Amino acid sequence: MAINRIQFQARLSLGQFLKHYGTEAQCGSAFEKARWPSGFICPTCQNTRYCQVQHGRVKTFQCNRCHKQVTLTGGTIFHATKLPLMI
Ligand SMILES: [Zn+2]
Repeated sequence: MAINRIQFQARLSLGQFLKHYGTEAQCGSAFEKARWPSGFICPTCQNTRYCQVQHGRVKTFQCNRCHKQVTLTGGTIFHATKLPLMI
């Protein structure tokens, strides 16, 4: 089984890990940076300009050019999960 590189970072204690990833907002932010390191890119037209729409706890990115809506977890292993990211 592969080592989870997020959980087992060298010289990162549990306290430090929880300081960086201990809330849902921190996990969402880290996941967003991992998914789009240079910022949001529309999967349909590759446009980088967007607006954010919040549907309850689901953060949605809407492309300003083609109006495609993409959730942070859409198309990933977390797609349609009912669980928070920090679990
Ligand atoms: Zn687009």
